[in-house]
Formats: sequence, structure tokens, C-alpha cells
Amino acid sequence: MLQSVHSLIDSVGHRLNIPEETLEQLKSFDKEHVFEIALENGKSFKAYRVQHNNNLGPYKGGIRYHPNVSLDEVQALATLMSLKTAAVNIPLGGGKGGIAVDPHDLAEKEVEELSRKYARHLHPHIGPEKDVPAPDVNTNAQIIDWMVDEFSKLSGTEQKASFTGKSIANGGSAGRTAATGRGGVIALAELLKLRGKSYKDYTVAIQGFGNVGSYFGTVAETTQARWKLVGVSDSQAGLQSKDCLNAEALKEFKEGRGSFKNYTSHGVHIISNEELLSTEVDILVLAGLEDSLTTENMKKVKAKYIIEMANGPISNEAYDYLTAAGKVILPDVVANAGGVIVSYLEWLQNNNDERWTEAKVNYQLTTIIEKAVQDMCEYAEQEKTDLKQAAFAIAIKRLVA
Ligand code: NAD
Repeated sequence: MLQSVHSLIDSVGHRLNIPEETLEQLKSFDKEHVFEIALENGKSFKAYRVQHNNNLGPYKGGIRYHPNVSLDEVQALATLMSLKTAAVNIPLGGGKGGIAVDPHDLAEKEVEELSRKYARHLHPHIGPEKDVPAPDVNTNAQIIDWMVDEFSKLSGTEQKASFTGKSIANGGSAGRTAATGRGGVIALAELLKLRGKSYKDYTVAIQGFGNVGSYFGTVAETTQARWKLVGVSDSQAGLQSKDCLNAEALKEFKEGRGSFKNYTSHGVHIISNEELLSTEVDILVLAGLEDSLTTENMKKVKAKYIIEMANGPISNEAYDYLTAAGKVILPDVVANAGGVIVSYLEWLQNNNDERWTEAKVNYQLTTIIEKAVQDMCEYAEQEKTDLKQAAFAIAIKRLVA
């Protein structure tokens, strides 16, 4: 994944005539923290925090708990984060963290100990003006609340702005949990509007129905009357229906920790998660993990519009192939920026000791993400590039300015 991000930085950078030395700097990392966390019961886990670039503001990026977390992955995600904050023009940099663990295998007390020890180790290197972590895959407001508490204890004062994605009671922002999914819906609706296509009816399939995918579904259900959800998947199975699926009901089912392989409802068929990717739909939402579409399966995709809600769900080769085949791909650095935008709004609220209504947060999110889509589309049209190259070009220009 890191190689894919770097080769895109190189190709866009060369097009912009950016000196080789500057591009090398953009691909390097300011600091990498790699350490081991040992629990009292003897279990031990590898942990990471990569601080990529803070030219535009404090490092910003989530913490992922997943068995596949590696330095290469965290580096790639940290780099994407710098490009994302720059592409949507918010005053933050890029970082990412992770622990190679499956938290479902641990007791709650162990997850708390692990999270507190992670925050303790990084205490000298993070903070409201240095590096502001947030949740990512398999981490949540509770985990962040433990980290804030640990960080505040070590600092001697309450430090709400040290992390974002906190629970509302602990200084989190209204609208944060749904923000990434909501941002994706807003971004796609704006893209369709700019292309003069918002008047049509669309069928939608969502790959990955976790935080991002499920909120994409429920927000679309309440705001986009012309979009009809006909397919969803999780890591174990997919569902397909000719009638409209109810995203809110599916979200409740998943929150009960159900897998779609056990879902039963009249008119709903179980398919494989691979079949979901080749469903006959207008819009394919990729909200699982990276590298979902590669040279292996890219030829099977039928959707005209693909939205990268996960980070890096389409390999570079597949991206080029699908673009050449006439597909329109809304790239991750803009499509899934809703989470970091509302994180930025949470950080602003904490720094100014304010609490905004959800309506105010959603309004600010809409303004920022619509502008980013407009800038990206305008650049792509003027310079005759695809949307990802346009978003990268805008971001790289801001980062090296
Ligand atoms: P999550 O763990 O809540 O959900 C991931 C979902 O994907 C789960 O339902 C899982 O079952 C499913 N999945 C995994 N592999 C799959 C496969 N092969 N086929 C179908 N489904 C599969 O995680 P999330 O927070 O929703 O994040 C999803 C992606 O979005 C990640 O790439 C993450 O980095 C990215 N992202 C998340 C946020 C955020 O705010 N949570 C922000 C920006 C980007």
C-alpha cells in the first residue's frame, strides 16, 4: 500500500514539476514510534505511531487495532492522512497509529490496559498542539476516553483536545460517529450534481457495513430519496435484494454483533462478499479495508460510480483500468475525509471550550467537503486528470507551498 501511495505522489509530483528532493521529503516521515506493549498477564503486542508531516498543523490520524497492522500499513495511512487534510484544506497534518491486536480476543480490562499503556508511551510525543490521535478500525469513543484520561493524568491537567472521537459526555463532538459516512454521501451527491446527474435514480451496494458503511447507508436513506440500497456485505457474507434494503435495520442487526451470513428476511439473498463487488448497481461504495479491488477482480465491476470510503480500497493498477473503462471513482482522500473534518471541528470546540449542535457541525462539514469536491472536479477538468490525481495535486501543492 505504501508503494502505491508513493508512486502516485511521484507521478503527480513530476507532472507538477516538483523537485525530486521535495518529493523525497514528502515521502519520508518526521518520526516513527515503534514499541512493544506488555500486559500484566504477560501478553505482548507491537504498537506504532507514525508522524508523517506537520507543515499545515499538528499531526492528525486514527489508531487502528487489527492483527494485520504493520509499519508499512501505518506509514501508508499516515501519508494518506497528510494528503487528506491538505486536500480538504484544514489546518492539520498527517499521522497514524495502530496496535497489532484483535481486540475481540481480549477482555475489556485488557483492552483498557493496552489503550492506557499506548497513551502513556506516546505521552511526550502527542498533545493538542503536537499530534491529535482519533479512533479508526476496531477502536471507539470508550478507548479514546481511556487514552484521554491517561494522557491528562500524566499531564497534570485535563487535556480534552489531546484526542478526538471522544464520547459526547467527555468532550466529543455531536455528529462525529456518523461523520465519515455522512461526508461520503455529501461528497458523492455534490459530484453527481456537478456532473448534472443528480436528477436520476441510483441503485447502491455497500461493501463493508461497519462504522463508515452503515452510516453511509443510513444517512443516504434519510437524505437521498433517489438512491436505493440493494446490496451490502461484511467480512463474512453479502446480502442482495431487488427491493430496497433498510439500512437502519441492517445497522441495528450488525450492532447486535450479527454477521450477514445469519441474516434472514423475505426477498433478501445471501451472496459472497466477492459477488457483492460485481453486483449490477450504479454506485459501489467501498467501506471495508484496503485493496478490495485489484487486478484480480477489477474486470468484474459493473458499477459506473465507485466511492472509496475505506483508505486505499483500489490498487493503482485497478484504479487506472477502471478509470480507462469509463468508471468515475471518488477518491478516498476526499470521500472519507468527513471523519477528520469533524475531528478538526471537535478539536476547535475543545480548544475554545465550546459545544456545537449537531446541525452546526453538519453544516460546517457540508461546507468543507463540498468545496473540496468542487476544487477537485475543477482541477480535473482543467488539467485533464482523473479525480485522484486532481485531489493529490491540490494536496501536494498545499503541502510544499
Ligand atoms: P469497521 O471495523 O467499523 O468496519 C469495517 C467493516 O468492513 C466491517 O463490517 C467488516 O466486517 C467489513 N469488512 C472487512 N473486510 C471485508 C471484506 N473483505 N468484504 C466485505 N466487508 C469487509 O471500520 P470502519 O471504521 O468502518 O472503517 C472502514 C474503512 O474506512 C477503513 O479503511 C478505515 O481506515 C476507513 N476510514 C474510517 C474512518 C472512520 O471515521 N471510522 C475515517 C476514514 C476512513
